[in-house]
This record gives sequence, structure tokens and C-alpha cells, in this order.
Amino acid sequence: MMRKYSTYILLFGFPLFGCQTKVVEKPTYEQNWMLLEKDNKALAFDADIHLSDAELTLDKKLFELRKQFLNETEKQKIPLYNSSFNELKPLIEDSKLYKVFQTMPKGGLLHTHSGGVTDMKWVIAAARKYKECYVYDQKDNDKFIVGQLAFFENGKVPQGFVSLDKKLLSDPHFEKELLERLTLKRDKLCTYTNYWIEFEKRFQRINLLLPYRPFFKEYYLKGFQDLAKDKVQHVEIRYVFEELYDFQHGKYPVKKSITDLQDIVKEVQKSDPQFSLKLIYSSFKFLDPQSIEKQLETAFELKKEFPDMISGFDLVADEAAGHSISFFEKNWTALDGLSKKYGVEMPLFLHAGESNSVFNKNVFDTSLLNNRRIGHGLNLIYFPKTMELIKKQNKLVEVSPISNQILGYVSDLRNHPARVLLSNGVQCSINSDDPSVYGYEGLSYDFWVAFVYWELDVKALKKLVFNSITYSSMNDNEKKVAVAHLNKQWNDFIQHTNQSLN
Ligand SMILES: [Zn+2]
Repeated sequence: MMRKYSTYILLFGFPLFGCQTKVVEKPTYEQNWMLLEKDNKALAFDADIHLSDAELTLDKKLFELRKQFLNETEKQKIPLYNSSFNELKPLIEDSKLYKVFQTMPKGGLLHTHSGGVTDMKWVIAAARKYKECYVYDQKDNDKFIVGQLAFFENGKVPQGFVSLDKKLLSDPHFEKELLERLTLKRDKLCTYTNYWIEFEKRFQRINLLLPYRPFFKEYYLKGFQDLAKDKVQHVEIRYVFEELYDFQHGKYPVKKSITDLQDIVKEVQKSDPQFSLKLIYSSFKFLDPQSIEKQLETAFELKKEFPDMISGFDLVADEAAGHSISFFEKNWTALDGLSKKYGVEMPLFLHAGESNSVFNKNVFDTSLLNNRRIGHGLNLIYFPKTMELIKKQNKLVEVSPISNQILGYVSDLRNHPARVLLSNGVQCSINSDDPSVYGYEGLSYDFWVAFVYWELDVKALKKLVFNSITYSSMNDNEKKVAVAHLNKQWNDFIQHTNQSLN
């Protein structure tokens, strides 16, 4: 209010003192209109960003590129707003804008999941190299589902599993078929799919694959290298911990995943020295409070031993099917005691409001708890008081536009709720959630989608990119180094793109 009033005074003079000697003219309609525009902009999430001349030049160029793209699709009568990401993917890849986004530094990927990171085509190619890798090719039963991959020792292969490599060699259609079973695509916006059932089947098909230590190491190395190539410098994974194993040694303690991941990060750093990783210990919303109590103990134990690797705690899975966040109230009230016991803090990074329903009130909890970031927060816009609180508490919403379309929450991406959050000043970042399950890699597609459908400018892009480091769970020192690196990358990007788009 104060700011509004001072703007008024600046623009039109002080009404009382000013009019003592002469009559002050009433602001014109146009002046009022301009003031409204200014006031609206001042509320937006990126109001504090001021662009350099070079950034303003790029802004004009990107605006033109988008205009050309939209004109061209219009000319060709391409139903841009009524097509799924999957249908548009080739068109996106051919666009000049996509090439620009591939070279844009993205900062951090704050919302992705273990098992959703690495290209599924690569998964099939890498898995078949292991002679101990098998695929289930029979009808689903209560133990296994068709297309499920697993490693077995010779002589211990359950019925219904066949050698993956042999199956791929003997059946030329099988690779394509398997890839379709490992990825979830929304082929058309108007067909019926039980998204969450299909989505969870994708994870079931690889969940016996990932804990096999030799494969685990390859999987994350490939995933991180691809992300680094897509200009992602920092990654935070909602990580579901499992005991790694191999046939020589058997099962390893849970912490082996962490030390192995640390080694993998060191390997990635050989080519991308700034690359960093944090893990958010994740469990499931469909479990009961007793199980979550045990999970929290494990999370605290791991965080005490690896305070730089474990950043917090989350509960995942379909919010419509699982328990509400408040169902676990006892677990949340126990957090202070656990913090004292273990001597570490355990902030929450809860998935909340991945829903279109007002009956899902999970976002309430995120404003009441020590919850640093909100996964999705799609229905936050229906609860204005909570939205205001989240904004005041400076908590970030992790937005994953393509995931939201594929899982059926948003069809026409112009109507994504994040647009309302951004214009109301709620801080957000752009994420890919489970790109490999959705049949793509990297973060460039999500930025493309946000830029084109939400009519963003360079100012908004810059804020989204820098938010992903500012709101990351890196400590202050790590952030300082990461921001310095990002700043340099960003300035190089502006300069190079301005030159190449001449
Ligand atoms: Zn997620």
C-alpha cells in the first residue's frame, strides 16, 4: 500500500499541498492504466530482476522467435494448444527456440525422482549387456508384471523370465514394445488413461533393476552426465533408499547408495567440475505413521552421517489415493525431538497439491510445517490465504509442466496454475519430475513449454533459473560458489545467443 501511494505521489504530485495554489489535473485514463500495469508487474515473482542491455536485446530476439514459431504453426494449422507434449515433441525439437534452451544454463533441477532420471532407451541397451538380466514376458500376476526387468543368478531365474538380450535378438518388435512399457506418454489429450496406475507400473518394471550395484552405478552416471550436458549444474533427487546388492557380495548397507553416488558425482565432476547433488529422503503417502516413524529414524541416521548429502524428507505417490499430509501429524510433531536426538535438522520438501481438487488440502500443511519447498502445488491457487502465507514464508513451488500434462492435471498448458502463482509473486522453479518415464531427457523441454505457453520473457526465465540455486538445499558457501558459476554461464549464454541470433 505504501509503495502504491508513493508511486502515486511520484507520478502525480502530492494532491493536498500541490493544489493549494493551482488546480492539479486529474490523472488521465491512460495514466491510470499505466499505473495499473506497473502495480501488477510489481506484484510478480520476478519484480526484483533488472535486465542488462544485452539481456534486453536477447529478450527482443526471443520474443520474435516465439512470434515466428506461433505464426508458422498457425499457418500450418497445427493445433498447438490441443496437442499433447508427446505429439509436439518433434516440432519442439526442430524449433530454433529449443536450440536456444538447450544452451541456456538451467541452474538446478530441484524436483526429480530416483528411477525417473535416465533415458529408458539407454536403460534397455545397458541392461541387455548383462547376461544376468532378464525380462518377464508373461501376463501380469501378483508378483511380476509384463515387461518387468530384473537380475538373477544362473539357476535362480523365476518362471516367466527370459534373457533380455536373447528376447531382444529373437523378436525384432520387442525393443519398441518394451520401451513403450517403460515410458508413459499421453498420446492424445482426449483418450482415457488411468495415469497413476500406468505411471506406477513404469516404476515397478525397473525397481528390481536399479538396486543391482553394477547397473546402479552406470544408471546414475549416465543420468547425471546427460543432465550436465543439458546445462543443469545441480540436482536434488527425491530418493527412495534401497539396499544395493550384487551376486558376489550380497546386500550392502543402505549408506552404500550414498557413498556410491558421491563417487559417481566425482566422476561427473571430471568433465563438469561444478556438478553437485543432494538427496531428499523419500517415503510413501500410502504407508502408516508407524512405518513413517521408522523411515524418519533412518533418514535422521543417514543425515547425521552425511549432512552434506541428505537435505530433507518427503512423502511421494498419488495424493488422491494416499493419506493426507495431516494424517502423519504425529510424525511431524516428533521432528523436533528427533532433531535434538540426532543433532541435525530435517526440513520437509513435501509433494503437496498435485491435484485439481479443493478437497485436497495438503498445501495447508506446507505452510504450517518447516517445509522449504512444495512439490507441484497445483491447487494452491484455490486457497488464497495459504498462497499468501507461502509467499510471505518465501517457500518455493517446484513446477513440472510436462509431468502435469502427462499425468492429466493440465491439458492446454496455457492454463497451467503456475501462471497464477508467478503473477502473484509466489516463487517457483522449473522441473522435469520423471523425464525418463515421460520419454525425454533434460530440462530444456520444460523451459520451452513454459516460455511458449506462459508467454515468459528473459526476466522471468532468469528469475526461474536463479531460483533453482537460491532455493536449493545447498549450504551458504556451496550456494555462493554455485551462483558465481551460474552468473558466468548466464552471461556467456546471453552473449553467445545474441551473436548467434543475429
Ligand atoms: Zn514428483
